Amino acid sequence: MKFLCVDCDRQMGFAERALPGDGTLAAVFTCPTCGRAVAMLTNPMETQLVASLGIQIGGRTVPEQPFERTRSTLQGGRDDAFADPVPTGGKSPRWATAAAERLERVPSFVRGMVKRIYTDYAAEHGIEVVTPEVMDQARRELGLEGM
Ligand SMILES: [Zn+2]
Repeated sequence: MKFLCVDCDRQMGFAERALPGDGTLAAVFTCPTCGRAVAMLTNPMETQLVASLGIQIGGRTVPEQPFERTRSTLQGGRDDAFADPVPTGGKSPRWATAAAERLERVPSFVRGMVKRIYTDYAAEHGIEVVTPEVMDQARRELGLEGM
């Protein structure tokens, strides 16, 4: 992955990166000619993708750690890393215990995204409580068999 300064037609140089510890990644690149800077931000899923592809950033492969270690690191990540405020402005649906237990069986590195899908589905359908039945219904309608 490289960034090019369009004005100068120069490859931008790596300036700094930050791994805040929540699975996100920030990297800054600057143009050696005009000084323009761009920042790349990735969410935990994208960080993992970048990591698993072994893409070089700043001359070094992003995580000097194997895929499994990346996954276990993300296990401590926030479930709501993908969560944005519910767009309706209404109340967010609650999760019934049985549904929450089922969600716990989803691999943790995609759990936040999966939870978001079901929560959004429930919100859009005016469902106040996410139950296993709602999850089944959502999977059928959204074509998510296997999630
Ligand atoms: Zn430039």
